[in-house]
Amino acid sequence: MVDDTAVLIVGAGPAGLVLGNLLLAEGVDTLIVERADRARVQARARAGFLGPNSARILTEHGLGAGMLHNGRPHGTCAFRYADGEFELDYGTLGPGEPHTVYPQQDLVTDLVAEYLDRGGDLRFGVTVTDVDPHTGAVAYRDANGAGQATARFLAGCDGGNGVTRTAIPACSVRRHARDHGTAWLAVLAEAPQSMSAVTYAIHDNGFAGHMARGPEVTRYYLQVPPGDDAVAWTDERIWAELNTRMRTEVFGPLRRGRITERRVVRLRSEVVDPIHHARLFLVGDAASVISPSAAKGANLAIMQAEVLAGALAAAINHGDDSALAAYSRTCLPRIWRAQEFSHWMIDLLHGPAGPDQGYQLGLRRARLRSLRDSRAHQHLFAEHYVGI
Ligand SMILES: Cc1cc2nc3c(=O)[nH]c(=O)nc-3n(C[C@H](O)[C@H](O)[C@H](O)COP(=O)(O)OP(=O)(O)OC[C@H]3O[C@@H](n4cnc5c(N)ncnc54)[C@H](O)[C@@H]3O)c2cc1C
Repeated sequence: MVDDTAVLIVGAGPAGLVLGNLLLAEGVDTLIVERADRARVQARARAGFLGPNSARILTEHGLGAGMLHNGRPHGTCAFRYADGEFELDYGTLGPGEPHTVYPQQDLVTDLVAEYLDRGGDLRFGVTVTDVDPHTGAVAYRDANGAGQATARFLAGCDGGNGVTRTAIPACSVRRHARDHGTAWLAVLAEAPQSMSAVTYAIHDNGFAGHMARGPEVTRYYLQVPPGDDAVAWTDERIWAELNTRMRTEVFGPLRRGRITERRVVRLRSEVVDPIHHARLFLVGDAASVISPSAAKGANLAIMQAEVLAGALAAAINHGDDSALAAYSRTCLPRIWRAQEFSHWMIDLLHGPAGPDQGYQLGLRRARLRSLRDSRAHQHLFAEHYVGI
């Protein structure tokens, strides 16, 4: 392995790959290590909605060719509930910007190719087992056994269950966490969109969601009890429950297709504060886990990667550490703003629980009516929905 690289990045997800590409463009000596193999990394279907800030970053840095060619603008979402349905053209409200629908696995594939084409060093099949934020030493395991590497700076881009976030001593960090007490069955179907809009269905059986991913692929979500087994959700049961919660008898049928993924995602949120310790900087899910309810995770990762790349380049190329010292302060308010909106969405979408159910139902109805009827509320929603 390489010793004394300027920046060693742990993890080749959206965070690590955007950071790596931006550092290469600045001429910074960079190494990315990733525990999975290339095929696995490029096949992981997760996010799909890129906000305008992500699209800008990718385009400005020459990383957006695939997104610009194959991505599709998306600016409408719909809410279905007992009183009917209403649509919000959020792409024309607030800042007036839509999302770009571009599957995360396609973005990751583009970013890997771009990084390697630019001469970047990326090692697959390398699992980091320990990092020392003070010395910049990294212990790893690969097909040849155990090894050590060192770097001037470490970027923890290894996701919400990675090792880098646990390397910050407990006395130097606060971990603010919430388990939302519910889970989503995340489903991918080989089927075109059934509706033209992202659709959030609120039903007594629980939440159901419909989100475009590609011309022939649609993501669906079903709220399920935490701990539910995805295997118990047969194709028939999934489509039946989607039909019920999406009220297809009123709004028309869903376009069915082969189900290629079903997995239970527990809704939890966590913010690490600060996201910097000594030589270690956390980026993306390593810094903050956010529920998929508002499609913010990949967008936060890309935002932080841009901030950190600029700060590292200033420190390494020009000896100016000021942006690096401010990294946590710069990113955390934006992370918390996304958390706040995501939390608001969770409250809106999920069925009430506990002894005050009637009160919670009343609140939800009031929120939906406000969103349906208040132009000011719609503009604010749009600003939060697409913004970081
Ligand atoms: C079902 C679902 C739907 C989602 N939808 C959206 C959406 O629409 N919009 C959105 O913005 N976000 C969405 N997200 C969230 C988004 O996918 C994540 O926020 C995003 O992947 C975070 O990127 P990351 O690079 O920080 O982490 P990851 O993508 O998790 O990448 C981390 C990488 O680190 C590697 N790694 C881990 N440990 C080690 C180790 N010890 N050594 C070496 N490598 C290691 C992993 O193999 C992985 O490749 C969704 C998430 C899920 C689960």
